[in-house]
Amino acid sequence: MRKKKAIVDIDNTLWHFCDVLYERLKKINETMPPPDDWIDWDFWEHYCSKEEFIYAIQDIQLNQDDERHLPYPEAKDFLATLKEHNFHIIIASHRTPASMEQTHGWLVKHGLAFDEMHLSYDKTVLFDQSCDIVVDDSPHVLEKAVEKGIMAAGLMFPWNRHCINNGYKLLENLNDILSHILVYSKKL
Ligand SMILES: [Mg+2]
Repeated sequence: MRKKKAIVDIDNTLWHFCDVLYERLKKINETMPPPDDWIDWDFWEHYCSKEEFIYAIQDIQLNQDDERHLPYPEAKDFLATLKEHNFHIIIASHRTPASMEQTHGWLVKHGLAFDEMHLSYDKTVLFDQSCDIVVDDSPHVLEKAVEKGIMAAGLMFPWNRHCINNGYKLLENLNDILSHILVYSKKL
């Protein structure tokens, strides 16, 4: 049987990155709006510089293995069930390859199953004919997957909610995403 391929994001997919990022951004500018108001991808532009924003993200990712950075409770079962259903899992995160050791340590520490890791600033290079599903929260990434004919799904957030009719599935939690994938994968 052909091995199926799933590409799974980390931030705001396997853990609730946005709250930690918000705490960091508030230290730069205390008027920074909370995640509920992050209704577009560039919400931060009027509140901090691009350099400050990127540094805040990288600093969290380079310290991924912090005790406050816990995966969602369903994340472990989500990945384990994909493995049981013959998926080859590539964990793909928009982050510097310099965070490889921290990221790998976090996945292993929390028992999150995977086969490969891809850390770069363009995960869409992975989107080829061998890919079956992409799980991500970024509208840009999800749209690229749909363009390539790949089934795409993600957790629903203020920054992607308006894209609900763009050809991918946005759901409330990883259990719902898993159910959606398993129904879809029966057809593969
Ligand atoms: Mg993400």
